[in-house]
Formats: sequence, structure tokens, C-alpha cells
Amino acid sequence: MEMNLEGVTPFEEEELKRNVLTTNLDQIKAWTRSNSMWPLSFGLACCAIEMMSTGGAHYDFDRFGVIFRASPRQADVMIVAGTVTKKMAPLLRRLYDQMPEPKWVIAMGSCATAGGPYVKSYAVVKGVDQVVPVDVYIPGCPPNPAALIYGVIKLQEKIKYEAKHGKRVFHT
Ligand code: SF4
Repeated sequence: MEMNLEGVTPFEEEELKRNVLTTNLDQIKAWTRSNSMWPLSFGLACCAIEMMSTGGAHYDFDRFGVIFRASPRQADVMIVAGTVTKKMAPLLRRLYDQMPEPKWVIAMGSCATAGGPYVKSYAVVKGVDQVVPVDVYIPGCPPNPAALIYGVIKLQEKIKYEAKHGKRVFHT
């Protein structure tokens, strides 16, 4: 945000630019939220193994402030990691509805994004965006931990962008 520097000396102007940062409350909230995302801990199929690996010591998800929570009441991110069956879809939606606002969804892997290898199955939902709104899609079967970390970074950017422009954007 630009500062109004009328009536200050060049020295004071330089000191202000080096030492004072101005912003607004929405952008501070977005900064804190994007650096402390708490995903709901559940996995649906093989992609969940890669998600669990990302949470382990080697990839260290915690350094991004990503801490898995066991209750939807404490979670603000849903990582849909695996195949969404038609039987599971209403339960997934109920968990999403139990999460407080603001909340975000990452579709991890080709099953969650479009049905994956089971796209011709009568029992599989062809993309979790038919059940919940999706913010970030991560391709792959399965995506590796680096891809999931990249997806989280894109979600962080999206949260900050939305705060700056005052609007919600889906399908990145
Ligand atoms: S995308 Fe591939 S690895 Fe992921 S759940 Fe589907 S079949 Fe398994």
C-alpha cells in the first residue's frame, strides 16, 4: 500500500520506507491463514499414501504451517486424496459442511480431479468438484509429495490474491 509522504524530509522519507509497512486487515488475515492451513486428516485411496508421506519428516509439511487435524471443526482445508465413490460422496460433503468458513479444497490426483483410471466405473464420481467447490487441482496418479507441496503453495498464493482483490476465485 502506498504511503502519503507529503511534508517529510528526504531523510525521513527514506527512514519511513525502510521501517514502516502499511497494509489492511484482510491482507493480514490472508497472510496468517495461508501460513497456518490445517487440513482435515482423511484419505480415500492410494493418493493418501503420498499425502501421508508429505506429512512425514523427510518432506516436513509442518514448515508450511500445514498441520493435520482429526476434526472438521478444527480444519480449514480439505485435501481430497484418492478415489471418490458415489457411496462416499455424501459423507465427504457432510464433512465439508462441518468445516467452518473460510475453507478451501485441494483435489489431489487424477481420481479426485476427474475419476482417474476408474473414469468408466458406474461407482466413481468423475471429479470431486461435483460434490464440493475445488480451489486447486493437482494432476498425477499419484502426484508425489513435491507436487502436493506445490499445490499448497498455489493455494497460499490464491488466498492472498483473493484478499487483495476482494473476490473468491475457483478452478486454478
Ligand atoms: S489417482 Fe492414481 S494413485 Fe491416486 S487414488 Fe487414483 S488410482 Fe490411486
